[in-house]
Amino acid sequence: MKTIQDINFEGKKALIRVDFNVPLDENLNITDDTRIQAAKPTIAKILKDGGAVVLMSHLGRPKGVEEKYSLKHIVKKVSEVLGVEVKFAPDCVGDEVEKMVSELKMGEVLLLENLRFHPEEKAGDVNFAKQLSKLGDVYVNDAFGTAHRAHASTTIIAQFFPNNKCFGFLLAKEIESIKKVLSEGEKPVLAILGGAKVSSKITVIENILDAVDHLIIGGGMSFTFIKAQGGKIGNSICEDDKQELALAILKQAKEKGVHVYIPVDVVAADAFSNNANTQICDINKIPNGWQGLDAGPKSIEIFNKVVLESKTILWNGPLGVFELDKFAEGTIALGNSIAEATKKGAFSLVGGGDSVAAVKQFGFADKVSYVSTGGGAMLESLEGKTLPGIEAMLK
Ligand code: AMP
Repeated sequence: MKTIQDINFEGKKALIRVDFNVPLDENLNITDDTRIQAAKPTIAKILKDGGAVVLMSHLGRPKGVEEKYSLKHIVKKVSEVLGVEVKFAPDCVGDEVEKMVSELKMGEVLLLENLRFHPEEKAGDVNFAKQLSKLGDVYVNDAFGTAHRAHASTTIIAQFFPNNKCFGFLLAKEIESIKKVLSEGEKPVLAILGGAKVSSKITVIENILDAVDHLIIGGGMSFTFIKAQGGKIGNSICEDDKQELALAILKQAKEKGVHVYIPVDVVAADAFSNNANTQICDINKIPNGWQGLDAGPKSIEIFNKVVLESKTILWNGPLGVFELDKFAEGTIALGNSIAEATKKGAFSLVGGGDSVAAVKQFGFADKVSYVSTGGGAMLESLEGKTLPGIEAMLK
């Protein structure tokens, strides 16, 4: 795996695929610049070597050219984060852009307009990728968030740089973190899977059973398992058609010697609301009209013990409806346990969608070993898939 460390960029123009798909508010202000910050080490290394940088990214899901998705809105922020002036190209391909790149001096940074203003980007069009490839001497992929897509700038372009492409620091770190959990993790290895649905995580569960010693299944997912085992779950969220699958997973886990922990008690509510009445009850004895919306105190205690015993921890998905204060306690307690385990030397990886939001919201982001920048890409990696963007770099 060739990384940015292996190349001296002196006198070279690096074409970097970054993931600057940042959230913007209605006034087009960036509300979270994590993704820009995350790309900084790669850009800084190239500039320090004495190279120039051409940045390409998508933003949102525009249908053709849509002003509100223009990357010009983020130029100021990127300049601020990098501490250098950033030039902006009004398109990402074509004569004018090629001219701007040819005039770019070493030490300078140019940001291209939104790749997705051209439908060829998502279509993985080879000619479009070839046009993009003219904009740099070396191709650097540092966009984990789109590595699971075979788009022109993330995958197809790699073939035009047979001997001069490499992974950026961020992408390399993401790959390394997943490897640490799935194949090189110090034992005991624990995976915590929460969130709403069994169906969205099923392939992940099946794949990680070979890698983990302990598995915590929490959140809305747990009720399908409890109902399948004959428990009464009241009005809790459940995928009835996944009950057999749930039992099959438990059987597989047992055969593979994986200890599975499912909440034993819950905070049950009479409505999906912060104003709901609540009671603590056993997870398999939830009264009709009530739904389990968070892990209960006994479960939190059990999970805490497992977390503190583990040396490698993967966390994907909240333990309850953390968006509502009343049902955030389980998720916060779990975050605290993981932070403590990390402090004691465990490796902890948080990734995939909502757990990242939870970790940020509750201030755990710098208390875990690594917070992944890719939701879908993370899930697909945990499913055991080789991501097309990564595969293309290894050819
Ligand atoms: P996911 O995107 O699959 O990680 O699911 C995250 C969502 O699951 C969050 O929006 C949570 O509110 C939701 N969730 C977690 N626990 C429950 C629960 N017990 N009942 C309903 N939704 C839940």
